[in-house]
Amino acid sequence: MLTLTPKVTAKVRLKAAVKAGVSSLLVSSGVDRLIGRRYGGQGVLLMFHEFVTSTRDTLGQGCSIADFEAILAALKASGRDFVTCDEALRRLHDPAARPFAALTFDDGYRSNIDLALPVMQRYSAPATIFVPTGMVDRSINAWWLALRELALTCDTIDMEPMGVRLQCSSFEAKHAALDCMTAWVWQDFSRALDLGSLFARHGVSMPALVDRLALDEAGVQAADRHPLIEIGAHTTTHRALRLLSPDEVAADIGENKRYLETLLGRPVGWFAYPYGPPSIGGTREAEIVRKLGFRGAVTTDPGALFPAQAAAPFLLPRQNAEVPAAPVAHALAGANGVFRALATRFGPPFDVPALDGQGDLT
Ligand SMILES: [Zn+2]
Repeated sequence: MLTLTPKVTAKVRLKAAVKAGVSSLLVSSGVDRLIGRRYGGQGVLLMFHEFVTSTRDTLGQGCSIADFEAILAALKASGRDFVTCDEALRRLHDPAARPFAALTFDDGYRSNIDLALPVMQRYSAPATIFVPTGMVDRSINAWWLALRELALTCDTIDMEPMGVRLQCSSFEAKHAALDCMTAWVWQDFSRALDLGSLFARHGVSMPALVDRLALDEAGVQAADRHPLIEIGAHTTTHRALRLLSPDEVAADIGENKRYLETLLGRPVGWFAYPYGPPSIGGTREAEIVRKLGFRGAVTTDPGALFPAQAAAPFLLPRQNAEVPAAPVAHALAGANGVFRALATRFGPPFDVPALDGQGDLT
């Protein structure tokens, strides 16, 4: 097996620095607000996952709680209201509504409550937490967490599926090893299904790891009872949906909806697609989500929300807000639609996917 000591390449460093520099420059010069006139829409959905006191402990993953607080302060100072997903949708029908940001947290981490909720309370900012069943009952293949655990705890990783042995005794090499293994799975999500023996060989217990980091049933119930928190659906198994047949997609999403509704004793109206667009194929999943009776569904495509999206809100864009470099500028620029503008090379500010039966929806 080839032995490698992973390094963060100059190209990766440069890309991150350019992105952070562009956000900072656009926001400090006010150009993000000019772009926002066309791309900013009525408001924005922001995406987070875990919260941490230091992203060094998670090899750069998640959002530091200090950054989260700074982002909320900056959004408030920019004149945005913090609203729920339902209120966001309502405001799309109201041209006179104030600009808004709606917070969303994926996967159901304990840190959403332990670290983020006290900050949310200071800003009266609600959030929707999208929870897969497998995260709560500890049956999930949370490969992204297990790869991180490997990188954190091992100085040598025999990454047999990739055909390499990764030497990672330094922080820098661990960070780079995790980035390299994660990117390898994202290239082909079916690779995530074959990592069980790798984790077992290196002593990583998936249920114990998930138990340490994710809310349990009592935690999800308590969270949903809090006035600032709503629980949303995020599939049963958190697999990439494009790997599944239509019946399997409907079962993976529908069973999660029913599980959460039984647990919470109320309808669950919002859904987030695991991994976003790389894991979904066209509008197939959105059709299924609509037929299952959700009020709305969110992707990981950057961009803001526009009134034309309100009629069939099943592929709503959502701005990633957890970046380690220049996080406040990144969130403000993202809320103004800057990353949609850049991703489309200043093309249309939003898409309205054509769904079957769209005319039935009012
Ligand atoms: Zn997820």
